[in-house]
Amino acid sequence: MFVVLGLALSLSVGLAVILSFASEALHVPEDPRLNDLINLLPLANCGQCGNPGCKGMAEAILGENTRLSACKPGDQAMRERIREYLETHPSEEGEFTKVKM
Ligand code: SF4
Repeated sequence: MFVVLGLALSLSVGLAVILSFASEALHVPEDPRLNDLINLLPLANCGQCGNPGCKGMAEAILGENTRLSACKPGDQAMRERIREYLETHPSEEGEFTKVKM
């Protein structure tokens, strides 16, 4: 009985260590502008833009894979705020994201 428990405990600790290392090794750094961009969107998470919610849309904008007009609840003022933000906030590499209205 104690042998089985000891084996299960050892296996659990071993898997935890492996997962911890894998988490560090596979970590993809997030663009620090992502949260600002999410908060500039309507936050309706309606999916009308074809993305899985506003976070997905923000990622698509940063990846230059969408137009701001894809966000149906968003108005011209929102698009202008996002364009202005991205024109004044380059990536960590110093590159500016091209905004498609
Ligand atoms: S359409 Fe706009 S409000 Fe709806 S999920 Fe996409 S970005 Fe968010």
